[in-house]
Amino acid sequence: MISEKKGAILILSGPSGCGKSTLLKEVYKEINDYYFSISTTTREPRVGEANGVDYFFVSKEEFEQDIKDDNFLEYASVHGNYYGTSLKPINKALEEKKLVIFDIDIQGHELVRNKLDSIVTSVFITTPSLKVLEDRLNSRNTDEKVVIENRIKNAKTEVEYFRDYDYLIINDNLEEASKQLVSIANITRVKTKLFNKDMIVSSWL
Ligand code: ADP
Ligand code: 5GP
Repeated sequence: MISEKKGAILILSGPSGCGKSTLLKEVYKEINDYYFSISTTTREPRVGEANGVDYFFVSKEEFEQDIKDDNFLEYASVHGNYYGTSLKPINKALEEKKLVIFDIDIQGHELVRNKLDSIVTSVFITTPSLKVLEDRLNSRNTDEKVVIENRIKNAKTEVEYFRDYDYLIINDNLEEASKQLVSIANITRVKTKLFNKDMIVSSWL
């Protein structure tokens, strides 16, 4: 059995509150050999969030130093804060041939696509409507009113980009949406471009 295969990247994007973190928690129960990319951000931690688990929380100065030091695979300003993906852990996980999962915004998706297209699969996640998104952001109860309003405003622009992604999941029923995401995560591992051509072909000589 030929196992010489590259690592792969699965990118999830979608408006804040559509359910990306909730869906990922369900998916982690069903897949293995993955690495979730912990982003670095300048936003304040929410109640219940831990440094090094949900994000690496840093100051604006620290983030800007990381930019200068070329430490990011990608970074962007989202909803008024910096968010970025550190290069080192991603390279390590890819060398270990893992499925590397990113929860990043539409700008990050475009940047990673441009750099690593052949190993990227992407999924856009939405709610069935803006109203449902609003309800979820309100009932999550983690952000102030003004923050929620800003995220809803940005959601309208973000959704316009869904066709840049390989797949769309409308997260209405959680169980159904989780199944779809598990299928996508699994199919991501068998894309032809991840296999080493010479090894595959040589076994047929
Ligand atoms: P994101 O990570 O995209 O910002 P979250 O995963 O934090 O979003 O989800 C936002 C809120 O919506 C949470 O309170 C979560 O429990 C709820 N939620 C997620 N998916 C569903 C669903 N399918 N049906 C109802 N509520 C959901
Ligand atoms: P939140 O503040 O709700 O955790 O995230 C806000 C937005 O930032 C979400 O759209 C999320 O996907 C995005 N995001 C989180 N980490 C990164 C990152 O490292 N890079 C980019 N470009 N976006 C990120």
